[in-house]
Amino acid sequence: MSEQPLEPTRLSAHEHNVTRKRVDANALDVTDRLTQAGYQAMLVGGCVRDLLLGVQPKDFDVATSATPEQVRHLFRRSRLIGRRFRIAHVRYGRDIIEVSTFRKSQSADEHDERRHDASGLILRDNVYGSLHEDAFRRDFTVNALYYDPISGEVLDFVGGLKDLAANQLRFIGEPRVRIREDPVRILRALRFQAKLGFSLDPAIKAELPETAQLLEAIPAARLFDEVLKLFMSGYAAKAWELLASSPLCAVLFPATPKAANLVRVAMANTDARIAENKPVTPGFLVAVLLWDDYLARSVTLEATHKPAEARALAASEAVAAQQQITAIPRRFSHFARDVWGLQGRLEKRQARSISRVFEHGRFRAAYDFLLFRAASDHSAELEEAATWWTIYQECEPDERDAMLDARRSAEPKPRRRRRRRRQNSAEQKPADS
Ligand code: ATP
Ligand code: MG
Repeated sequence: MSEQPLEPTRLSAHEHNVTRKRVDANALDVTDRLTQAGYQAMLVGGCVRDLLLGVQPKDFDVATSATPEQVRHLFRRSRLIGRRFRIAHVRYGRDIIEVSTFRKSQSADEHDERRHDASGLILRDNVYGSLHEDAFRRDFTVNALYYDPISGEVLDFVGGLKDLAANQLRFIGEPRVRIREDPVRILRALRFQAKLGFSLDPAIKAELPETAQLLEAIPAARLFDEVLKLFMSGYAAKAWELLASSPLCAVLFPATPKAANLVRVAMANTDARIAENKPVTPGFLVAVLLWDDYLARSVTLEATHKPAEARALAASEAVAAQQQITAIPRRFSHFARDVWGLQGRLEKRQARSISRVFEHGRFRAAYDFLLFRAASDHSAELEEAATWWTIYQECEPDERDAMLDARRSAEPKPRRRRRRRRQNSAEQKPADS
């Protein structure tokens, strides 16, 4: 990183479409108060990128020359978080503005083994720097644009405006070096590709095969968070398509078939729910991504275990295997296990368990899951079971009773079974005695 221009390209207020009006009032409060206190403070990253693209940002990040402690001091309702680097969270009711201090990156040529491991991975990244240095430590050029709400200027140190206009995702510096510093950046590349519809710089694509396995060194909890962002931000279908056709998929989801219809259907549905402001839970996606693995393990285990035991064990194994890669918080794995456990009962619709299944806390999720399975398997039986439950939910209580009766009379008579048992014991008795 030798020939970095120190002076940024500056767009004055009338040369771009970002205005104070389009910025969150709380974020402006933060930048205004920091500026009044004598610090530099600007909006940076995804929010500036999105505003320039005419998209409403989902959050507003502030970068400042004030240290985290100085920010903490200035804002009563703030706290410091983060281990890898400390940032300040300033609270406004339920809204949180993230404030990070200008930092510089430790580039490979100033290699220092306290900050990097042998492969170039950043271990610590907490050295404060200037605005200019802060721009260069960021991942993509389009993520390193600054908006100064006081002057109204947009600042570009790294050619981000040009890439934004060309819909190009390009690393600041050498892709190979930047990925080795922090391999999660390749996942971020897919995320922004999916979200923005940008094309990946061919130099990034070329690095994918060789760098995919670097993700194995990333703590499972961080990978889970990053994967969550990939699938829970409203463009999961596209993100999955990109992931499945990349070498990253085998590293992140080794047990998920890349062509699984169920995953595609569920991802598209997640996007639709987010677009309608309906709640989505990561537990559901865990259930979707690990379903095939769970089924395969169940089949194997049924050779040596009772069916119910085999399924419980299969669920534990499928979750445990994925845990090694992406930590799955317990509430989400429990959710997936419940959804899996209910599938057989939803399919069978045994009269004696129907109302219990219907009242189960996860009924709705399990039913949705059944719908997706029916839609993705093109199976007439699943289709029939799914339709049955659709009608059951929608009809009046007396019609529900009639449906239950119909199921009851369609089932083999318990009396007949009892008679058979009696016959058996009658047959056996003489031999026993
Ligand atoms: P989103 O719209 O998803 O919030 P974003 O670009 O704001 O996208 P964040 O994860 O919120 O992404 O990060 C904020 C900014 O911090 C990024 O725009 C980028 O400049 C910088 N950044 C985040 N993660 C990294 C990373 N791993 N390496 C370098 N810079 C990063
Ligand atoms: Mg952001």
